[in-house]
Amino acid sequence: MPRLDLHLHTTHSDGSLPPAEVLALAHKAGVTALAITDHDITTGLPEALEAGARLGIDVIPGVEISSRFGENELHILGYFLDWQDQALDTRLAGLRASRHRRNPLIIEQLRALGCDITYDEVKELAGTESVGRPHIAHVLMKKGYVKSAKKAFDRFLAHGKPAYVPRELPEPVEAMAWIRAANGVPVLAHPLWARQDGEGLFKLCEKLKAEGLGGMEVHYSTHNPKQTAALLDIARRLDLLVTGGSDFHGLTKPDIEVGVGRGGLTIPVKLLDPLRKAASA
Ligand code: AMP
Ligand code: FE
Ligand code: FE
Ligand code: ZN
Repeated sequence: MPRLDLHLHTTHSDGSLPPAEVLALAHKAGVTALAITDHDITTGLPEALEAGARLGIDVIPGVEISSRFGENELHILGYFLDWQDQALDTRLAGLRASRHRRNPLIIEQLRALGCDITYDEVKELAGTESVGRPHIAHVLMKKGYVKSAKKAFDRFLAHGKPAYVPRELPEPVEAMAWIRAANGVPVLAHPLWARQDGEGLFKLCEKLKAEGLGGMEVHYSTHNPKQTAALLDIARRLDLLVTGGSDFHGLTKPDIEVGVGRGGLTIPVKLLDPLRKAASA
């Protein structure tokens, strides 16, 4: 069945597969259009666009930017970006620099907790400028300190755990303005991560919409039908575009597959045109 997947990570951030391999999986899954949305970086796009042209898959330039939400984070996806825009590039480089300021502090904490690990090892394994906690988790796993990436988060890296260190993050309004300035459409990723009840999430999205939000990731790997329906209702009430994606990361999130998530995800192809129109408006 033809389907979309507008949320995919590659080795250019914390995914485990290079863009061409993600595209090959998408092709197998019947995905006809997709977006590569690496964290804070767009260097995966040339390879993805090339593979897309070869496989007949429409590749939408994207990015995912983490922003501050109290103690928590809101992730803002950007679609149909002018990804070679200089200002965008400078801003994303600033976000990657904030990662390089935080990560060594995490390593210090881990070393104090008895894990023999260095930031050089993490950077080497990452092989990209956008180095994240999942790369640190991977090294911890390789060295036998934890059995899985998830365990590394549960024991050390998640918010509230002993090696958690916050990172300087933009406000949501800034992240959305950067995306708009590059002619992209800002979309709230995995809205349930905000941990709001129905009314709280409505109010939050109402505020974000006033600040520039264009859409909401209604379809997502972990959403059950009831959650999807509730988000669809909020999107309709606020006249937000509806999008969807798997948030595929490869081995970093081993239960999630391209295009189908945990198996039951189907993102209708008809969602793409309104998003494309909004980007060119
Ligand atoms: P960072 O952007 O470096 O702070 O790392 C955040 C990334 O780690 C997210 O985008 C997810 O890909 C991943 N992540 C966050 N929490 C968890 C978790 N509990 N288990 C596994 N991966 C996680
Ligand atoms: Fe990630
Ligand atoms: Fe995210
Ligand atoms: Zn993501």
